[in-house]
Amino acid sequence: MRYLILSDIHANLQALEAVAAQAAGEFDQVLCCGDIVGYGADPNAVVEWVRRNVARIVRGNHDKACAGLEDPEWFNPVARHSALWTQGALSEENLRYLRNLPRGPIEVDGFQLLHGSPLDEDEYVLDRADANHLAPYLELPLSFFGHTHLQGGFWCHRNGVRPIRKPAPTEDEFSLEIEPDVLYLVNCGSVGQPRDHDPRAAYALFDSQARVVSLRRVCYDVSGAQERIRQEGLAPLLAERLAAGY
Ligand code: ZN
Repeated sequence: MRYLILSDIHANLQALEAVAAQAAGEFDQVLCCGDIVGYGADPNAVVEWVRRNVARIVRGNHDKACAGLEDPEWFNPVARHSALWTQGALSEENLRYLRNLPRGPIEVDGFQLLHGSPLDEDEYVLDRADANHLAPYLELPLSFFGHTHLQGGFWCHRNGVRPIRKPAPTEDEFSLEIEPDVLYLVNCGSVGQPRDHDPRAAYALFDSQARVVSLRRVCYDVSGAQERIRQEGLAPLLAERLAAGY
């Protein structure tokens, strides 16, 4: 089976459409590691796309806050305002869909999907020390996650932990072959709000037969997404950061 794995779409319809167009024909099923809404200006269109196309999904912290399952009081003011705006903008049906999203990790075809860490959906796995600490809690050798918006992740072997690299600015793809006796924590990167200083939308493909993960980047209509954020009166910072990828 060939999977398209998305994370942190954050209501960015322009980025999502570019990813879907580039990956078209290369996957059998779509999976998602959460945070489909929050920050971006098109939550209804994005949730509807996810409802139509995504086979398995775990919720993210923004999905919880935007669905009203959690008070976003601990979010920074920009994230909090966007969560409350999103909650008001979403249709009743889309809100119900968000409220019913399962908490990760969930198992799919011998690998798992999670949002933050295997222990806590709100926890950030940022560096080798975090990956080393969490490796014993991984129930399966291959996990896909998101939350940090930093594409890549970690390769955990008994001899140590190494970062997985993402495509360089001059590349569209970096592929890695999944080896036995290694634990993989693969960060798909963020479709709708990359924070690794590469503004291109990020996503992953996984071929479970060939055992190959491909980390991809694709250019999208950043000005279109910025324009929508401004039209809806969301914080200007949310538009500005898309151009720089932070
Ligand atoms: Zn996120």
